[in-house]
Parts: sequence; C-alpha cells; structure tokens
Amino acid sequence: TRTTVARSHGVEVRLEGLVRAFGPTRALDDVSITVNPGELVALLGPSGSGKTTALRVLAGLERPDQGRVVIDGEDVTRVSAHRRGIGMVFQAYSLFPTMTALENVAFGLRLRRMRRPARTARAHELLELVGLGQLADRRPHQLSGGQAQRVALARALAIEPRVLLLDEPLSALDAAVRVRLREEIRRIQLELGTTTVFVTHDQEEALSIADRVAVLRAGRLEQLDTPTQIYHRPATPFVASFIGRANRIPAQMTENGRLLVLGHEIDAPTADLAPGTRHVALMRPESLTITPAPDGTGRILGLVFRGASTDVTVAWPTLPDPLVVTLAGEPTADLAPGARVEVVPRGTVLFVERAEERP
Ligand code: ATP
Repeated sequence: TRTTVARSHGVEVRLEGLVRAFGPTRALDDVSITVNPGELVALLGPSGSGKTTALRVLAGLERPDQGRVVIDGEDVTRVSAHRRGIGMVFQAYSLFPTMTALENVAFGLRLRRMRRPARTARAHELLELVGLGQLADRRPHQLSGGQAQRVALARALAIEPRVLLLDEPLSALDAAVRVRLREEIRRIQLELGTTTVFVTHDQEEALSIADRVAVLRAGRLEQLDTPTQIYHRPATPFVASFIGRANRIPAQMTENGRLLVLGHEIDAPTADLAPGTRHVALMRPESLTITPAPDGTGRILGLVFRGASTDVTVAWPTLPDPLVVTLAGEPTADLAPGARVEVVPRGTVLFVERAEERP
C-alpha cells in the first residue's frame, strides 16, 4: 500500500577530526566516525562523553571548532541544519501540542510546499508505517509516550531524510515499550535503508539495535566496532567495564606464558606479558564458574535471579570487591547465601591491565 515512502539510497556520513570545546571542556576531542550507507551506528557513552554534541554537530545545530562533516561526499560543515536533509527525533515532548498526529507528521511537508492532498496522503502512510494509522486525529496529550515517539519518528521520516538522527528517543519510556519500539525503529530503518545515528547511554540498547557501536568517553572515541566485537573484544579497559560487566581480578604471568587467576592457569589474552609480572584481569561474569566446597575460598553474599540466568556475588578474601558470577539457568540448592564456594575462571580474559593501572 506504500507508494510515496521510498526506500532511500543510503548515503555515507563522515565525521572527520571533530573538535568542540565549551570553555575548558572538550566535549569532542578529535572524533572521527564513518557511517556507511544504510548503516545504523549507535553513539554510546556515559553522561558528558560528547554524544549529544556529536549529534548536534552532525545535524548542523552546533559548529565544530575543528574538523568536517561530510554527507554523501559533500562537505556540509558550513551548511545550515535545514539544508542537510536530516530527520531528527529527540528524547521526548518534541511534538507540536496543538496539532494532531497527522498534522505533526505533515508539518515538514508543508514547509517544503507539498500540496495538502499529497501531504495528507504521505502523512497517513507514515503513520501506518509506525503502526499508528488509527490515531491520526489524536493530539499529543491523547497519546502515550511510546505513541508520541512513533509520531515523532514518522515526522522525521516524512521529509525522506538522507540521514536519521535519534537522540535518546526511548529513554523516557518504560522498559517494555522501550524494547518494542527499538525493534520497530530497527525494522523501519532496515526497510527504508536510511543511514542512522542513534545516541544512547544504555549499553544493551546500543548492542541490540546497531550495526556498529561507537563508544565515547570524555570526548574521545574509544572504539568503533560491531556489537559482538565491542562485547567480546573490547579495545580498552574502559570499554570492557562500560559494556556489560567485568570482574577485576588480580593475576600473575607464569613462567610458561600463562595467566594465574584465582589459583588457576588460563590463557593470557596477549603474548607480550613478561613472566612474573602482576596484572588485573578483566573477566565477564559468565566467564567464571562456581562450585560448592565446604572449605572453599569464597563465600556467597547473594543471588539475583534474572530469568534465563542467575547472578551470584561472592566475597573473595584477596579482592576488594565481590566477584560476580553468572550461571545459566537456576542455581542448585547448595548455592545459597553464606555457602563456601570455589570460583574457577573458564572463559577468556577480556583485557589485562598492569596491576597499578585503573581505567
Ligand atoms: P548526556 O548523556 O548527559 O546527555 P552527552 O554524552 O550527550 O551526555 P554532551 O551533552 O555532548 O554529553 O556534553 C559533553 C560535555 O560538554 C559535557 O561536559 C557538557 O557539560 C559539555 N557541554 C555540552 N554542551 C555545552 C554547552 N552548550 N555549554 C557548556 N558546556 C557544554
């Protein structure tokens, strides 16, 4: 039934050496990211890492001090925002409150001088695309948060943007709606083939929606990679701890080039560590296993049931923080708070830091 919602040809977006300072703060400190045609890249990082500034520079709402923004081969660094062919969705409350859903979606088309019958037809199709065909006449206050964000998405897509920018579009929504709507956004984005940049501080959201994830920290790009690489092959200790969880465990290199962790020898992640040197090994909770042992070194502090898995926290005498071990499925009855246990490293070490370093 869709006639005018065209599949876009998908343009390349390049951020090149972007620098943007606010007084002494470098919100962006030499950030370069290439988004391939039709790709969805998530910008992920803690509060203040520069995600929003990167998006605003890309949109043309903020000028960089240095660097370039290139869209489809064209340097648009000095091109104003409304000439960049960008559609944007913000966190919340960006709809015009006095307009209906349909009028909100049609608004950008009116600015582009599309005639009324055509823009009404287009707006209807877009509302269908986001699953709101029945609610065209509602005003924003008559919509749920999730519905309002669908309208905002339809409005951003109505102008057939070359690039779609989403700034924490789901963070004001409750968990179930958030997951459903992110799947919907991804489906529509793949269907239309629109090059998209999605800002979030939620690691799970970034990993589940993106083709690639750009991890920012204090204005610098720490890693730009696929979700699986980011999770399993973090480039820095910061990425290892920020994406998912990582235990920090003292470790020592043995004479035969292996790593001694919790009294067990396992493979070292790199070959260049000298025998005898002390380190901190970063390991995911699912890379540790746990066995009950009456005279075990560790003691269970607590268990958190997560449905498909259970997290067990274990006090370990030589560690400042408890270990977190993730078990597949349900724990056996002997794994209860207070029980003595051994924890054995099984999976890979994500990263090894020198013992005195901190991320
Ligand atoms: P959040 O997740 O909290 O939105 P963010 O990663 O989007 O954070 P930015 O909003 O890009 O981060 O901010 C990066 C840094 O730049 C922060 O230290 C912030 O305080 C600073 N900053 C951003 N905009 C301005 C501004 N207009 N004036 C002064 N400082 C700013």
